[in-house]
Amino acid sequence: MIKVVKFGGSSLASAQQFSKVGDIIRADETRRFVVPSAPGKRNSKDTKVTDMLYSCYALAEQDQEFKTELRKIKERYTSIINGLNLTLSLEDEFKKIEEQFKAKAGSDYAASRGEYLNGIIMANYLGYEFIDAAEVIFFDENGLFDADKTDKVMSARLSKLENAVVPGFYGSAFDGSIKTFSRGGSDITGSIVSKAVKATVYENWTDVSGCLVADPRIVDNAQPIKVITYRELRELSYMGASVLHEDAIFPVRKAGIPINIKNTNDPTAEGTMIVANTCQKSEYTITGIAGKKGFVAVSIDKDMMNSEIGFCRKALSAFEENGISIEHMPSGIDTMTVFVHQEEFEGKEQQVIGAINRECNPDAIELESDLALIAVVGRGMKSTRGTAGRIFSALAHANINVKMIDQGSSELNIIIGVSNADFENAINAIYEIFVLTKI
Ligand code: ASP
Repeated sequence: MIKVVKFGGSSLASAQQFSKVGDIIRADETRRFVVPSAPGKRNSKDTKVTDMLYSCYALAEQDQEFKTELRKIKERYTSIINGLNLTLSLEDEFKKIEEQFKAKAGSDYAASRGEYLNGIIMANYLGYEFIDAAEVIFFDENGLFDADKTDKVMSARLSKLENAVVPGFYGSAFDGSIKTFSRGGSDITGSIVSKAVKATVYENWTDVSGCLVADPRIVDNAQPIKVITYRELRELSYMGASVLHEDAIFPVRKAGIPINIKNTNDPTAEGTMIVANTCQKSEYTITGIAGKKGFVAVSIDKDMMNSEIGFCRKALSAFEENGISIEHMPSGIDTMTVFVHQEEFEGKEQQVIGAINRECNPDAIELESDLALIAVVGRGMKSTRGTAGRIFSALAHANINVKMIDQGSSELNIIIGVSNADFENAINAIYEIFVLTKI
């Protein structure tokens, strides 16, 4: 049994948090490979070390004085080292970083130092070997992650080791410089390491006890999800639920390795298991609810639309030509409605309408703005009668007007359109009918 454990920034923000992490790792000897993030916020007013590094490097890039900012970053690490009573010194590392900043080594290099230095401290603290991610994670000439080369090099390197710390978030670009993943990318490193060592499970430690059925900023006391499939998670993350970096799913999903989201501040809580398949029913018919505000519905009407070959293609090409991505497309017999992001659409509205008029010659085009989309997701919906009925009676009781309904043929989700103003109430009404009544 091999576990890869990734710890997020808030789990490593201070010496106190580091020692919780140490206890977690030492409590289970199968936790052999550790992927740390950079130190995160210690409290709501604090700044993440990654953000400090970006702003410090921005000064260096403009030939402004950056040493004061760099000293503040160094102090974050020194307080962790001292708090853990380690004899480690990062003096030489900071000298090198200062030189590289002066030489304008790039903002990716700068940001990556957050995890690099935290990795050195973590390895020293645990007595594990430190592996610089630049030696085992690679990007290709197009700047894309090179999965094959990485897997080959990393698995050869790690297979010789009992334990190791591999810092998250970065690797080597094709030209040998440092390149990072997008923000939150340490999750991806954890997933890549899990695949390379053929881990039994990828534990992703954060500051919440797993994924919740709904956004806790909208629903009070939202319940945790025990088991969720990759597909369900993808639907929920697409609609705004954020637990894990989206790209972190692919490496482990391919290798069939489950992800366990765990809470560093409550290590005995089960957390959420993210799996490929499961026969375990979700507790409440639905697995989760998520949603986003800020859509416009463009409804195109034309008599006998259904018999006009190529109508949809022509209408959609009006959006494509103007670089507008389409979110949803419910349709009637003589109407098709296209949901687009309001922010993206507003500036190009007249060009799109003009193109639809030219291409399709419709009877009418109507626009409705300030709409929200809500996804109710659950593998259990397929085998349960009346799910849609319950959603709509809950919304009707809450006096919410449903503007759009769209159920995917996989029966994994139902998408509902409501006005932005009804968004929070709608999510609460759906949550209540499924979770609080426990059916
Ligand atoms: N430290 C990086 C960030 O703040 C990567 C991560 O934490 O996953 O985005």
